[in-house]
Amino acid sequence: MTKQIYITRKIPETGLKLLRDKGINFEMGTSKIPPTKKELIKVLSKKPYDGVISFLTDTLDKEVFDACPTSHIFANFAVGFNNVDTEEAKKRGIQISNTPGTSATAVAEHTVAFMLTLTTRIDEGDRFMRKGKYKGWDPDLLIGTDLKGKTIGLIGAGQIGTEVAKILHYGFGSNVIYSDISPNIELEKIIGENKRKETFEILREADIVSLHVPLLPSTKHLINKETLSMMKKTSFLINTSRGGVIDEKELVYALKNGVIKGAALDVYEFEPKLTKGLNKLCNIVLTPHIASARQSARDMMAEISAKNIISFFETGEAINNVIK
Ligand code: NAD
Repeated sequence: MTKQIYITRKIPETGLKLLRDKGINFEMGTSKIPPTKKELIKVLSKKPYDGVISFLTDTLDKEVFDACPTSHIFANFAVGFNNVDTEEAKKRGIQISNTPGTSATAVAEHTVAFMLTLTTRIDEGDRFMRKGKYKGWDPDLLIGTDLKGKTIGLIGAGQIGTEVAKILHYGFGSNVIYSDISPNIELEKIIGENKRKETFEILREADIVSLHVPLLPSTKHLINKETLSMMKKTSFLINTSRGGVIDEKELVYALKNGVIKGAALDVYEFEPKLTKGLNKLCNIVLTPHIASARQSARDMMAEISAKNIISFFETGEAINNVIK
């Protein structure tokens, strides 16, 4: 029987073609704004969909699963899957898949761009010029710092962390150290035996700390008042992982009071809302969750989401099922 799926927002043609070629019918949300949970429940209860392609902005929990009891596959168009109640999915035998590796290059490059923005002060220079403040060359104006020779501490060295490490090691001669729940032997062949057992060792040693862990109960508020105070006063913090890894209220305090020197964020604790005070600081760079925003990454994400749906229908197992 022909399968029918719902795609909560528009995905690229690369994924749609794969579905069409397999004779899978699909309907697709058209809104540019993420659907609310209420809207999602309304649309999913309309038909007995056999599968769903979901986004990181879709809350997938008990009530949403109840609204679509015929779907036993939710293929997330994302690497992260912290939008899903995975315990509830497991209980119901629902498979959840993600798109691992699809945005490692893009996110790593964005992370390094953040590092360069902070160390070269490009954003401040741009604002300075636009305000007409430039009155002539000044040897003391907007003094930056080198990346070369600096210690970069990665918390989480999976696909994205590894790419960041390679760019910094080969491109800038930085000293890369990392902490992770599992050792990354392949990475250590490049950067040396630079794994630190404890996260606090990274915080104390690094000139720039960059977060590349998934948002889990164990990583929620990993960066908090106590851990921020372990960082060097001259250090920068970068977050391209998930907002909830940082207690942002404490980050605002730390940036205001010189606990650390600066920060750059692509993801937010209360996304899309900004924690009070964040946008008033001049020692922070903010981007709207665009680290993976490359057509190449989006095409791959669409392709892998579709392949997960197809694999589930054909074999009963999504390729990247994260429910173990
Ligand atoms: P990955 O699974 O390859 O790597 C995550 C690493 O974190 C793994 O090596 C894992 O062992 C480690 N880890 C897990 N829990 C840990 C803990 N408590 N302490 C230390 N290390 C821990 O994932 P990835 O592809 O590198 O992506 C990392 C995260 O980046 C994703 O989970 C996602 O939330 C985020 N992401 C953001 C964007 C964006 O647009 N900003 C895009 C893609 C991914």
